[in-house]
Amino acid sequence: MTEVLAANRIPLENYADVVGAGEIEELRALAKPLRGRSIEMINSTAVGGGVAEILNRLVPLAEELDLNIRWDVMKGAEEFFDVTKSFHNALHGEPYQAQPRDFEVFLSYNEQNRATLPLDAEFMVIHDPQPAALIDARQPGSNHWVWRCHIDLSHPNRAVWDFLEKFVSHYDGAMFSSPEFSRQLSIAQYLFYPAIDPLSEKNCPLEQEFIQQVLQRYQIDPQRPILTQISRFDRLKDPVGVIRAYRIVKRYFDCQLVLAGGSASDDPEGALVLKDVLRAAEHDPDIKILELPAWAPREVNALQCASTIVIQKSLREGFGLTVSEALWKKKPVVASAVGGIPAQIIHKHTGLLAHSVEGTAYQIRFLLSHPEIAAKLGEHGHEHVKENFLITQKLKRYLALFLMLDRRP
Ligand code: UDP
Repeated sequence: MTEVLAANRIPLENYADVVGAGEIEELRALAKPLRGRSIEMINSTAVGGGVAEILNRLVPLAEELDLNIRWDVMKGAEEFFDVTKSFHNALHGEPYQAQPRDFEVFLSYNEQNRATLPLDAEFMVIHDPQPAALIDARQPGSNHWVWRCHIDLSHPNRAVWDFLEKFVSHYDGAMFSSPEFSRQLSIAQYLFYPAIDPLSEKNCPLEQEFIQQVLQRYQIDPQRPILTQISRFDRLKDPVGVIRAYRIVKRYFDCQLVLAGGSASDDPEGALVLKDVLRAAEHDPDIKILELPAWAPREVNALQCASTIVIQKSLREGFGLTVSEALWKKKPVVASAVGGIPAQIIHKHTGLLAHSVEGTAYQIRFLLSHPEIAAKLGEHGHEHVKENFLITQKLKRYLALFLMLDRRP
């Protein structure tokens, strides 16, 4: 992990061009009293998905501020990730009948990780449900622990949430990606938006030549409209629904659909969903289903840049970092009004929201027929991301939280 992160380091000053020198000064001032203090971030996958994406950027940036930060990934086997993926879906509100064995598996892997992870930093940040029970390792009064939840908890499966809440209530605070996700808890709750790094390979400006090369590699025609959804092959991202929307649009516009997705090591469902997607595509040559390597940020960037419209037709969503990534590239976005997406897509201002396959198709058709409106939405979207969803703001929020925790008795 350390070598990967070292390669990701970008001098903090470089961000001044994007966010202004004042923002960088503010970061330095907030970080000063925390210099050398130890922070440990823990999640369940090093690559794939939004959490790994954020940690890959946040940790090197915190190092730039001389914080003693480390990122550890908890270990688990297939049976653990099967259970935690079911928990993930259930917490997002999907039907699920939890079995006693599921809870045993969850607890047993958390116990194993408690024995091997350091867990001794002054500030412990535990991401999502998978490692939530690590809190049991905490010695009374020893260090600060916060739980960062990236899931939409507005309608959780009761049994899974009741089980999890027992651990969550032992933390000093919980951070959620949207006010709607907060729960009735005995601990403090904070709103923390996820964020993108404007200078990362995923989001930095690319040479036109490279973008064209990527299109050529995947046999995508640059002359015809390109509709794109970049997401892990996950039912909650509804890739089959995207194909259905595309088919409606295709009756009116000679467009292409790109469904690009890699996998995450803590998501065992990807292969099954990919099979469904391939079946639904029925060998349509204008549907490009791309299995990207887990770490291919420049290719993702190129596909987003080359898109006429970016889609995020999720059925449930924590935040949907892909939406901010597309908006940052000034792309018109059509996305479902679920989870954290409406915080990014202000309907008819920074993009268009939809609630169904037909609605998604309708909005895509509208944008294809009104390119000038599509361009305006993209412009506004870029400004909205700049104001609210950049990694520097997120880091600032973390620093403020640590300072606040430090003052607590
Ligand atoms: N992503 C990627 N390659 C893929 C699919 C997704 O790099 O094949 C990235 C995507 O660009 C984004 C993150 O993974 O940065 C997904 O985050 P999001 O919040 O959209 O969804 P999650 O996977 O966390 O549910």
